[in-house]
Amino acid sequence: MSSNHANRGVVYTGPGNVEIQNIAYPELAIGNRSCHHGVILKVVTTNICGSDQHMVRGRTTAQPGLVLGHEITGMVVEMGRDVEYLELGDIVSVPFNIACGRCRNCREGNTGVCLNVNPGRAGAAFGYVDMGGWVGGQSEYVMVPYADFNLLKFPDKEQALEKITGLTMLSDIFPTGFHGAVTAGVGPGSTVYVAGAGPVGLAAAASAQLLGAACVIVGDMNPDRLAQARSFGCETIDLRQDATVPDMLEKILGIPEVDAGVDCVGFEAHAHGCSHHKEQPAIVLNTMMEVTRAAGGIGIPGLYVTGDPGAATDAAKTGQLSMNFGLGWAKSHSFVTGQCPVMKYHRQLMQAILWDKIDIAKAVNVQVISLDEAPDGYHAFDQGAAKKFVIDPHGMVN
Ligand code: NAD
Ligand code: ZN
Ligand code: ZN
Repeated sequence: MSSNHANRGVVYTGPGNVEIQNIAYPELAIGNRSCHHGVILKVVTTNICGSDQHMVRGRTTAQPGLVLGHEITGMVVEMGRDVEYLELGDIVSVPFNIACGRCRNCREGNTGVCLNVNPGRAGAAFGYVDMGGWVGGQSEYVMVPYADFNLLKFPDKEQALEKITGLTMLSDIFPTGFHGAVTAGVGPGSTVYVAGAGPVGLAAAASAQLLGAACVIVGDMNPDRLAQARSFGCETIDLRQDATVPDMLEKILGIPEVDAGVDCVGFEAHAHGCSHHKEQPAIVLNTMMEVTRAAGGIGIPGLYVTGDPGAATDAAKTGQLSMNFGLGWAKSHSFVTGQCPVMKYHRQLMQAILWDKIDIAKAVNVQVISLDEAPDGYHAFDQGAAKKFVIDPHGMVN
């Protein structure tokens, strides 16, 4: 039955390029591994992420032919025989991390590093290099394994479709930004420096506000993205300026340090000041150690890799960066890295959206596009558009 369906998706075809191609309709299997615990979703929305851009820019070992997409919201249209607690027609948010629900890490809530879903290393994701070979969901249909465990069902379908531009952020960037703020120790009255005003940085900034931060300062070298951060009450610093980050923070706070730092940039970080066009992969990590108070926390959702073919130095090509770690040690900093374990947060953040405690779609400036417009969305996002692109493959979003 399934094989009669057509399917189309966003395929990485080589550095700088993605195309819409006909792809296989999903089966309840991957390779020779059967997935009776899985469901097939009709994709309602699927977002383009900065993490996709690392692959599309040729900055990972991703191979052409990869079907992209790890930020997925969908409607259940087919269920494996072992799925017990979902129904056909349910609208669900898919955590981007694939997790078995059975291993030691899943049982401890560390679903970003599940031990059973990727033969190569701990942790898996849809449509991502080195993440277990699971087919991505920037497509019309996608298969989600271990569905009872992974999926978050929205309580009311009509309400879900009404608030879909916010709810679609639950698959990744809202929990990811929130995790960055939580692990940096943000709470009522905190002062926070968020590096990066892309969608993850904006989600971290809005999350810090939700957590009660007194002052959230966002830094970037993209003026449109900084304006977007100001639109919901953040302070901003423009890193193209010829001033140091501590000096710029001092102008706002009266002191050159913050309680908590969140790195929402990752390894493609650019230098500060007049050389801001050049990359300097460890600059955000080093800046965070400089400006975060002693005993403070540094949340690091920004992505770092073990292999970067496009790096400027041989060391960086194997993921080795020049970090001023002694400073972090001297200041007793805590660092939290890695994939966000989405499931730790998505239910509560769903409630925050449904009860209008936060307008995450507005904070990240959602623009809904069709599947055919996805390559243009990738291009505009790569050029630094102050937008979060949400693909609507079936025209289900108003
Ligand atoms: P993005 O590329 O849209 O945003 C990154 C921003 O950082 C850009 O606006 C860029 O101008 C800015 N920037 C560059 N150098 C900087 C510097 N030195 N200081 C401050 N800002 C600087 O990406 P995004 O979608 O917002 O994602 C951000 C990062 O988070 C990416 O590395 C992505 O892979 C990662 N990510 C991680 C997780 C996770 O689970 N840990 C999940 C989603 C995304
Ligand atoms: Zn993502
Ligand atoms: Zn597991």
